[in-house]
Amino acid sequence: MQETGNKKFCKKCLLSEMDEGTYFHNLYEYIKGLDEDIKAEQKEYERRLSLCKECDNLIDGMCRICGCFVELRAVIATNYCPNMDKKW
Ligand code: SF4
Repeated sequence: MQETGNKKFCKKCLLSEMDEGTYFHNLYEYIKGLDEDIKAEQKEYERRLSLCKECDNLIDGMCRICGCFVELRAVIATNYCPNMDKKW
């Protein structure tokens, strides 16, 4: 277990061992903690996510082509959309 502020989370838990709230909290903490050097610019991040939101391959926050949570995939500057027509 690790503590952040007054919340505890396990760095070794599988998704199936977490409740949904904990999982998404950890996901956003992970994004926040990424090195700024590897992150896409905020405007580019938002542009990517707006394209994902219009895409038929987005299901429950995940891209059905690559299996990634799109918010995680889109935050990395060098990543790209895995669709054949590369939406971003
Ligand atoms: S990453 Fe590309 S294919 Fe996947 S949901 Fe986003 S726009 Fe669609």
